[in-house]
Amino acid sequence: MKPPPFDYRRPATLGEALGVLAEAGPGGKVLAGGQSLIPLLNMRLAAPARVVDVNRVPGLDGIEAGPSGVRVGALARHAAVERSPGAAAAQPLLRQALRLVAHPVIRNRGTVVGSLVHADPAAEMPAVLALLGGSVRLASLDGERDVPAAEFFTGPMESAARPGELAVSAFFPALPARSGTAFHEVARRHGDYAVAGVAAAVTLDDDLRISAARVACVSVGPVPVVADVTAACGPRPAASVAWDAVAAAVRDLVEPEGDIHATADYRRYLTGVLAVRALRDAASAAHGEES
Ligand SMILES: Cc1cc2nc3c(=O)[nH]c(=O)nc-3n(C[C@H](O)[C@H](O)[C@H](O)COP(=O)(O)OP(=O)(O)OC[C@H]3O[C@@H](n4cnc5c(N)ncnc54)[C@H](O)[C@@H]3O)c2cc1C
Repeated sequence: MKPPPFDYRRPATLGEALGVLAEAGPGGKVLAGGQSLIPLLNMRLAAPARVVDVNRVPGLDGIEAGPSGVRVGALARHAAVERSPGAAAAQPLLRQALRLVAHPVIRNRGTVVGSLVHADPAAEMPAVLALLGGSVRLASLDGERDVPAAEFFTGPMESAARPGELAVSAFFPALPARSGTAFHEVARRHGDYAVAGVAAAVTLDDDLRISAARVACVSVGPVPVVADVTAACGPRPAASVAWDAVAAAVRDLVEPEGDIHATADYRRYLTGVLAVRALRDAASAAHGEES
């Protein structure tokens, strides 16, 4: 199918982009990698009056990694973030999760920030941002505001970005010393959206006991479901954790729905299994072991 007609703008500066977005109001849509928007247009599931292609706006493709975390610009492609040694060193969960996003050709074009704004409950990057307690920076003619992940994802395919706002970057915080992360998911075919998936972060204390453990689950709610499972995991070494009880605790926290890919019960069961795998691998990584 072909998309419905729309007014196409390709601004050359950030100021111009914010101007044409403000002018369009609720009828305006940003085009970044186009890996979600173009299929939605072609299937006529979206019909914006104006599409604002920001691909020629300079300065939006940065990946700044430092001790506090990684700031990813609006035009940084999934593949660029996945391959960035600095980003992987500052926040390994980015690379662990990005390997699971779609296929390489889609990752060459799709953007991390676009994935956050798109806010698909089955997508990996919203779960990563939510698990880490990151934020999204939104710009408009009125200025900039940083929205924490806990307030950014407001529903399935819905984010806190308002008409006239452009998400210019997202910040993924680093974790404390002796922390590890992992991401596990099950998809019907490699590269498909996950039937269920879990991102985990574990921190160990000086005696190598688990002092913090969190998971973020995908495809089991309207937004990423974040759960603090520290009480179920610690304070004890990973080898002494009652993992069946942890799986049960996570299953109690999610409320998946059934669809053509999986029943709700199967999704809930799978989420418990994946949570344990991800937490154990995250604990191994915190020990400095390869999983
Ligand atoms: C076959 C296929 C499989 C896929 N599998 C997965 C998968 O397994 N996991 C996964 O996470 N994703 C998957 N995707 C989606 C892919 O990761 C997209 O790249 C991503 O969801 C959106 O990024 P984009 O840059 O392409 O955004 P676009 O398609 O350009 O935009 C998506 C939406 O976000 C808005 N938007 C984008 N950038 C901004 C911005 N800077 N400011 C404000 N609004 C913005 C757009 O207006 C639009 O509403 C898949 C896509 C395809 C085609």
